[in-house]
Amino acid sequence: MDLCVEDWQYLNEGGENKGHALRLKKKTKKSHERDVEGAVRFQMEWRVLQISSATLTQLDVNIFQNRPQHRRKDPLDSSAIALLMPDLTYCPPEITSRGEENNPVFAVEIKPKWGDLPVSHYHTKEETPRACKYCMQQHMKFHHGEIEAISGYCPLDLFSQEPDRIRAAISSLIAQPQNNLKIFCGRDLLLAGALGGGDSTVSGEGMKLLDRYFTVDEGEGKLHHLKELIVQLLYHSDILQNLKRVQNLDRIGPAAAETIHNLLQERREGVDSDDLAEKEQKLRDFMVAATAKDCSIMLTIFPIRAGGEEVPSPFKTLRLDGSPHAFVCRTSIVDFDPKSSENLANWRRQETDIIRFFIDSGSNKRCG
Ligand SMILES: [Zn+2]
Repeated sequence: MDLCVEDWQYLNEGGENKGHALRLKKKTKKSHERDVEGAVRFQMEWRVLQISSATLTQLDVNIFQNRPQHRRKDPLDSSAIALLMPDLTYCPPEITSRGEENNPVFAVEIKPKWGDLPVSHYHTKEETPRACKYCMQQHMKFHHGEIEAISGYCPLDLFSQEPDRIRAAISSLIAQPQNNLKIFCGRDLLLAGALGGGDSTVSGEGMKLLDRYFTVDEGEGKLHHLKELIVQLLYHSDILQNLKRVQNLDRIGPAAAETIHNLLQERREGVDSDDLAEKEQKLRDFMVAATAKDCSIMLTIFPIRAGGEEVPSPFKTLRLDGSPHAFVCRTSIVDFDPKSSENLANWRRQETDIIRFFIDSGSNKRCG
């Protein structure tokens, strides 16, 4: 298949046309090692496209002026495939026609990280930390001055399937987004922490817009209805449990994965045993899990008149007590980019550092 280049406009680091986004690879040092195995295994609403090198080169020229200055050094990889997926900041006219005039489409992007304890990485109970990787890593980031304060967010709360704990997780993310929460209005970034490309605070205009739809009664607290919407969407969806199942394909940890990777590199030629096949499978599962631990969930939210009719799948309508609006929503997974095995040594070192900083901090935090 090939594309009509003029049909596509620049949207962040990709191209888009009405209702669809095209995810393209950039030519970086690591790109030759990547594949789409993770995406295929998770069976998303994506199509893998083989696009001609001439078309990709032309797209690269067309979007160049619209790309941020610091991104321009990495041109598109003209030898690569592309992924066609829904544009999650877009609602089709049959949905938007139900809203009042000029109602915006909001998108909430959550990077949940690993929703379980890495118990399988350790040989004995004594050496197993009872805190999750995210919470332990907060101590290392704080020590390095990357964050101003240690977040109250814990992925195990978000994945708990208990509304109160999910609510606590969302409140912590809104209070301290870091790079784990972003809120968009259309394509405008309204809220993100410093690590997520924002400045940790919502602009006055952005806050007014969020308040108009999500802080209906001041007594219930800022953005009460946004928090409740997110809780309802996540609690009634199996998206997090499916994601956790893929994350937990990691049964070995980065140190063992690196050992297997090195062993396979040395013995690849002329050796074919069941043992090798089993090791290969463990490494493959580890790499797929690594992708699932770093992907994001995107919630698309469009306010309509309360009492609006039912909407076609994958959208659904939610109503909240005390809100004059109803909300058309969809839940999706994004950023399911396969990881490169070049990361293994870094991940192994990082895990050692994270645990060391956590132990040195004297914290007795236990997650779950
Ligand atoms: Zn935790």
